Amino acid sequence: MINRKIEDALNAQINAEFWSAYLYLSMAMKFEAEGRAGIANWFRIQFKEEQAHAEIFINYLVQRGGRVILKAIDAVPTEWDSPLAAFEATLAHEEKVTAMINNLYAIAEAEHDYATRGKLDWFVAEQVEEEETAQGLIDRLKLIGEDGLALYMLDQELAQRVYNVPSPLAQA
Ligand code: MG
Repeated sequence: MINRKIEDALNAQINAEFWSAYLYLSMAMKFEAEGRAGIANWFRIQFKEEQAHAEIFINYLVQRGGRVILKAIDAVPTEWDSPLAAFEATLAHEEKVTAMINNLYAIAEAEHDYATRGKLDWFVAEQVEEEETAQGLIDRLKLIGEDGLALYMLDQELAQRVYNVPSPLAQA
């Protein structure tokens, strides 16, 4: 059985992962409305990944005999001035998520819950990737600047992104 403090912290993280999913779906819808189908596709996949993150924590909490409590998902922004602004908001958000995962890790250590700490290792690595990917797209959008053709080509490229089930779910 999992201790109450860890259970509460994991429930808060589940809510945060769903908020992330909602944020990225909102970004996807913004770019669908602008005819940027590739950028929208990229954010739709991001949305699915965040749902998967929530599901990984849900499955883990169930496995540990905890109780999953689903709370309201706060409203998300709906407007960004440009693709660059959206990816900058993505990076800022992922940096916050990294801090949340690190905080969970610290709680797991303080509570001597090494199973939870181990479960978080995958998320620690995942956050490195999330930040790297967002930063890479920011760098490219800064190079693109006002070049419409270059932005069109990036949109075409992002249309190719496909969803892969994250490994902790694929193994489940
Ligand atoms: Mg996540």
